[in-house]
Amino acid sequence: MTRTRAATLEVDLSAIAANTRLFADTADAALMAVVKADGFGHGLADVARTALAHGATWCGVTSLEEAVAVRAAGVDAPVLSWLNPVDWDVETAAAHRVDVAVPSVRHLAATHADHPVRVHLHLDTGMARDGAAPDEWPALVAAARRAEADGRIAVVGVMGHLPFADRPDPAGLAALLHGVDLAVRAGLRPSLRHLATTAAALTDPSTHLDLVRVGVGLVGVDPSGSTRLRPALRLTAPVVQVRRVPAGTGVGYGHAHVTDRATTLALLPLGYADGLPRAASGRGGVLLAGRRRPVVGVISMDQVVVDLGDDPVEPGAEAVVFGPGDAGEPTVADWARWSGTIPHEIVTGIGPRVRRSVR
Ligand SMILES: *Cc1c(COP(=O)(O)O)cnc(C)c1O
Repeated sequence: MTRTRAATLEVDLSAIAANTRLFADTADAALMAVVKADGFGHGLADVARTALAHGATWCGVTSLEEAVAVRAAGVDAPVLSWLNPVDWDVETAAAHRVDVAVPSVRHLAATHADHPVRVHLHLDTGMARDGAAPDEWPALVAAARRAEADGRIAVVGVMGHLPFADRPDPAGLAALLHGVDLAVRAGLRPSLRHLATTAAALTDPSTHLDLVRVGVGLVGVDPSGSTRLRPALRLTAPVVQVRRVPAGTGVGYGHAHVTDRATTLALLPLGYADGLPRAASGRGGVLLAGRRRPVVGVISMDQVVVDLGDDPVEPGAEAVVFGPGDAGEPTVADWARWSGTIPHEIVTGIGPRVRRSVR
């Protein structure tokens, strides 16, 4: 029996390498590894280095802080940061050679001829979220042209983002191409047009253009449901306590579960502070000694109880909370379904108390 001293999250870099190669082979464009949110919870430096060694040629992040962390990981490839405040730090961007997405004229005020930076103009292609609204775009391209003439920026790209993971979006593509057209007519020469993320990279080659930005797919999640990717995480926890209880025993806070027969309960040292969603209470399960065991009662902050029935285990036995699914263990997708969310929220939500182990 494998024993572990603590709850452990294993990151399988070979899965990330295989997924990266699949995207590099599928896309008719350059591949950007999106490593925001600590590499979708898998480790920013490890995901960045692994992806760049297996076909990615860019890194993408939301903030300059993350971009600096990518550089600190020894990455020399181009890095783009796209969710910056209006007073973003142009000196940091220039010093670390970070490309910056610019969604508004106000964001250009931070630029300076002493610290020229490469810019990707960011157009909202249909989400009413980040990027310039279409009616602000002509003013943005005109201001960017002036900033370029002043030697403050070089406009190298135009980016958009698609709202749908599960269907083609010709309107989003048309909006981006129209935006590029206006930029070119204003005198700009953006050579990198980019729009697609994981779902469109897998399902809609017309959106690939010059660069695809892939995040969650590298770590094995396919929001389009079209492709088998390799999950890269395995979460385990050792059984802390085992006890036999009679029928009618209330388990955990509020006695949300009451045993309907005599049974054996096992305690695991993992709770919602560790990323086990409380909303999965009464639905989730784990693999323990070769069998699925249901979570019973409410998932607490630090701990959770599973029902072993009449097939007990010893304290110290290792429960597999989720993994790739090869051995019958639940997957991240199962936990997402049990808690009414998407796999992205599970993988980015594992708490800091969980030990990380990379292989
Ligand atoms: C998160 C993000 C991505 C990556 O999307 P995935 O669906 O995870 O591949 C790409 N581009 C932008 C702007 C993002 O915010």
